[in-house]
Amino acid sequence: MSATLCDTGRNDKGYSDIWTENCRAVSLGVSYWHGIPSFAPIVEQTMSAAELPAREAMEFDVVIVGAGPAGLAAAIKLKQIAPDISVVVVEKGSEVGAHILSGAVIDPIGLDRLLPEWRNDEAPLRTPVSSDRFYVLGPSGAVRLPNFAMPPLMSNHGNFIVSLGDVCRYLAQKAEALGVEIYPGFAAAELLFEGDAVAGVATGDMGIGRNGEQKSGFTRGMELRAKYTLLAEGARGSLSKQLIARFGLAQDRQPQKYGIGLKELWQVAPENFQSGLVQHTMGWPLGNSVGGGSFLYHFGDHLVSVGFVVHLNYDNPYLSPFEEFQRFKTHPLVRNTFAGGKRICYGARALTEGGWQSVPKLVFPGGALIGCAAGFMNVPRIKGSHNATLSGMLAAQSVAAALGAGRAHDELLDYEAAWRRSPIGHDLWRVRNAKPLWSKLGTLAGVALGAFDMWTNTLGFSLIGTLSHGKPDFASLKPAAKCRPIAYPKPDGKLTFDRLSSVYLSNTNHEEDQPAHLVVRDLALQKSSEHDVYAGPSARYCPAGVYEWVEEAGNPRYVINAQNCVHCKTCDIKDPNQNINWVPPEGGGGPNYPNM
Ligand SMILES: Cc1cc2nc3c(=O)[nH]c(=O)nc-3n(C[C@H](O)[C@H](O)[C@H](O)COP(=O)(O)OP(=O)(O)OC[C@H]3O[C@@H](n4cnc5c(N)ncnc54)[C@H](O)[C@@H]3O)c2cc1C
Ligand code: SF4
Repeated sequence: MSATLCDTGRNDKGYSDIWTENCRAVSLGVSYWHGIPSFAPIVEQTMSAAELPAREAMEFDVVIVGAGPAGLAAAIKLKQIAPDISVVVVEKGSEVGAHILSGAVIDPIGLDRLLPEWRNDEAPLRTPVSSDRFYVLGPSGAVRLPNFAMPPLMSNHGNFIVSLGDVCRYLAQKAEALGVEIYPGFAAAELLFEGDAVAGVATGDMGIGRNGEQKSGFTRGMELRAKYTLLAEGARGSLSKQLIARFGLAQDRQPQKYGIGLKELWQVAPENFQSGLVQHTMGWPLGNSVGGGSFLYHFGDHLVSVGFVVHLNYDNPYLSPFEEFQRFKTHPLVRNTFAGGKRICYGARALTEGGWQSVPKLVFPGGALIGCAAGFMNVPRIKGSHNATLSGMLAAQSVAAALGAGRAHDELLDYEAAWRRSPIGHDLWRVRNAKPLWSKLGTLAGVALGAFDMWTNTLGFSLIGTLSHGKPDFASLKPAAKCRPIAYPKPDGKLTFDRLSSVYLSNTNHEEDQPAHLVVRDLALQKSSEHDVYAGPSARYCPAGVYEWVEEAGNPRYVINAQNCVHCKTCDIKDPNQNINWVPPEGGGGPNYPNM
């Protein structure tokens, strides 16, 4: 498909206007402004492959996309099994850990199996959980649930409070010591095929301008060809999404469900610090019909990770997960924790919530999905890093066996067959009804019944079988006319903040002059539906203030401040028409989380 690109100058934020196929929206009085992004679709529209220099290719046994716990565990395990296997990991963050955002309380089951020596190393798991509390909040009070009432699988005894970014940096060192090649700053932008089999990935071209032109520093992407490709992109991976659709991997499965998790890292005053404290809440400020809750973890040198998760099947388009998070911090149970402290980092990331019922078929010719790209997050435990690690190891065993047998580019069927009987399956099976019950019955009844079902499953049976999830999250919004607007308090700049000062703390940076990475497929639809019917929820669900509808003389313009994008992927999930496609920007762009 060819389309016109027309640079229409700069907007009032200094970003360039770029028109893709959406130019026709001009006639509807809609402007479409991008600060930045993607290239695959735009490049395809502006240059034929013949005009581009050929890509250099490198051959590996295994290419891994994503240096999170899943990708790095797979890389380490492969080298442990067979040191001669050549393994490369590509990571879109500027360094390993730059795009990792998690709670995180980690269950060391994965790490214990992967690197049993970690407990004798200088590993960044230094704060064991010492106290585990769970509360239900009302507007001004809190009820603590007794620990004995919680199913044993919810206990955090023996777990560690960490920065998952730092754990990934540690894993990357281990992988490199074993001979794994890691390329941070390179986004896997395209899948390569041989026949119908995946045969590796191509990294994105660097140095393409916003209109698709080659700039002075233009560098063609690299083809990383492999016998097997493991996708470890985390929740809502952009290549994983393409593969799931192409190979029908989600057929006969429940739709994947998601949440958005927002997090701040605080350095707190010594008198407010309780090393090892893990505290979770549900209830206020969310109403009974909106799923989610908070986490608060004390670790390291007077650090507190505070975060808030909102399930993305909420129905009121006026809801703002960011403002709910800010409001939560004002609750009397937690507000004193931050008195005299300093907020040092902010970020957000989607997480998968569908669990057992939603895990797609994991394998396709030439590779497999691992970690949260496959949806191995355990929602009630708010934990996925252990399963990410375990799934990376399981897939690595399957790949190593296949390579040892001289195979290539086929399906790793033993990995597919193994996961439900593995500790990952055991972990997800027992909690499979927690999320559907919460969605169907609301927080109080849903969580109570969910806990009962987790208890019975722990004892080996369930009275309710396996519940379905229903609609995908993008289909859950109600028209704005049927919903009540929500008035959020103004930030005070001490405990509560606005989006822009928050994004500043994520150290987000993108090359400004590059094609759009937030691709609105049909801008006219965005106006007629997202704006006119749903009152522009993107302006509220985006945790980085990327989307704005600016009213000018009754003429709404869609402003996309792509420069601010923290790569959480929520727009790709929650847009009511699935009209926004997130694709990787130039490698190295995005947040630079130091220790999230
Ligand atoms: C707010 C929040 C709190 C959480 N709390 C906990 C907790 O307390 N305990 C716990 O165990 N789990 C927790 N989780 C879940 C946990 O973070 C995930 O399960 C885990 O990070 C998944 O690991 P992964 O390797 O599959 O993906 P990720 O950790 O998401 O890593 C994926 C990596 O791939 C890179 N990538 C993606 N696409 C590309 C591409 N196309 N090219 C190159 N690189 C790419 C990304 O930049 C990233 O570095 C939490 C998650 C969130 C969001
Ligand atoms: S633009 Fe999309 S991916 Fe980027 S921060 Fe906003 S919601 Fe997240």
